[in-house]
Amino acid sequence: TVTVPGVESPVPTGLLVGGEWRAASAGGTFDVLDPADGSVLAQVADGTTDDVTAAVDAAAAALPGFAATAPRKRSEMLRKAFEILVERGEEFARLMSAENGKALPDARAELTYAAEFFRWFAEEAVRIDGDYRVAPAGGTRTVVTHQPVGVCLLVTPWNFPAAMLTRKLGPAIAAGCTSVVKPAEDTPLTALLLAQVLAEAGVPDGVVNVVPTMNAEDVVATAMADPRTRKVSFTGSTEVGKILLKQAADQVLVSSMELGGNAPFIVCEDADLDAAVDGAMLAKMRNGGEACTAANRFYVQAGVAAEFAEKLAARMGAMTVGRGTDEGVTLGPLVNEETVAKVDRIVRSTVESGAHAVTGGTRPEGAGFFYPPTVLVDVPADAAAMTEETFGPVAPIATFDTDEQMLALANSTPFGLVAYVYTRDLARGLRLAEALESGMVGINRGVVSDPAAPFGGVKQSGLGREGGHEGIGEYLTTKYVSFPL
Ligand code: ADP
Repeated sequence: TVTVPGVESPVPTGLLVGGEWRAASAGGTFDVLDPADGSVLAQVADGTTDDVTAAVDAAAAALPGFAATAPRKRSEMLRKAFEILVERGEEFARLMSAENGKALPDARAELTYAAEFFRWFAEEAVRIDGDYRVAPAGGTRTVVTHQPVGVCLLVTPWNFPAAMLTRKLGPAIAAGCTSVVKPAEDTPLTALLLAQVLAEAGVPDGVVNVVPTMNAEDVVATAMADPRTRKVSFTGSTEVGKILLKQAADQVLVSSMELGGNAPFIVCEDADLDAAVDGAMLAKMRNGGEACTAANRFYVQAGVAAEFAEKLAARMGAMTVGRGTDEGVTLGPLVNEETVAKVDRIVRSTVESGAHAVTGGTRPEGAGFFYPPTVLVDVPADAAAMTEETFGPVAPIATFDTDEQMLALANSTPFGLVAYVYTRDLARGLRLAEALESGMVGINRGVVSDPAAPFGGVKQSGLGREGGHEGIGEYLTTKYVSFPL
């Protein structure tokens, strides 16, 4: 275990396999860095391909027993885990802020959101239904039932280290599946502490196994190729999602993919501009812009574009940048050097192609992975900030005249996760919502995520849905039994 400042409990740093915390079989560890200064926060066991096979062994061994557990029991485990998470919320928030860098208000919001998935799926666990059908010709009866899909491989990213895991583990446990978790190498500590909470909540040994590793490629590929694995659920980049889908084909794995986005944020002339700026602050700056749902590009109708840009720049420019765990900080560092270098490259390239920075736009000197809140105007449609997923505190603004022209721009991307629309005309908002190629649309809202709603994308943003009534379906298979009467 390791002691993290501000976190009362010692945080596990080993692998969790079959209910036992252990060192990596090859004895290796890797460093988890504090993004505010680049110092080493913890050393975590570096799982190997042998370790992940041992985790699949444990998950496969625990499966028959867990699949047969009464739904009410599984529900109560999740309910208990929800209560522990809420009770220890501040500890989790500080841990996430420490390893991810996010500002404490963002970390607290994530923890609440993460815990809600356990509460929601505690309620779903006892509502897995089936039905009884009469054949059209009479005589034959069909009984339809749902069974747990089996051993699941859950691969998660660093941007929401708790929520991206609870929205996979919640439905997996509710459905009666067992899992092998591969957390992101930048943020394994949250996943490890979360696994400890699940054990405290009564989740049996082997139901949740966690294998952190620096060698994601081989460790994940080994688990994907294991014939006992039946499902993969992945949240991360489209690039890695495509690799996993190809690997999934070999074992015909049930696949859920939450991949990249390039969310348009649309402000119509008839919008309540102050509400649009509030919404933009949420859509853009929640989690420092490190969210697949982050507003990536802004389309503002010409008549209100200057005023919107000015108001947004004033709000973004007034944010307090600093170490995420410091009180009063509203924007922490980005997670790692690679991420801040990417944001810097995208802004430079966008400015070179003709855009102007109204606020921010320059990477500061010194330690830590900081980037200032940045608003860019006069942004050409083909600039890097419009076409690439920036994953940082950068708001590029372009203008539009007609809805048709704007829709063509908004839909001109291979991604389709979420879109935001601000207008006082609900019919116009709904017309746009229907025409936008995305899995989710927020009308006069800057945040759409909700454990009770089916989160997910179209096009290259993913396959499947997480949360809502749909979420548990990803962890169930349908079986029917047919018999004559
Ligand atoms: P991000 O852009 O958010 O870092 P990635 O897609 O690189 O997203 O990472 C998301 C998760 O996928 C992490 O847990 C990471 O370790 C894992 N990962 C990265 N590359 C591979 C790979 N080639 N095969 C399997 N998993 C991978």
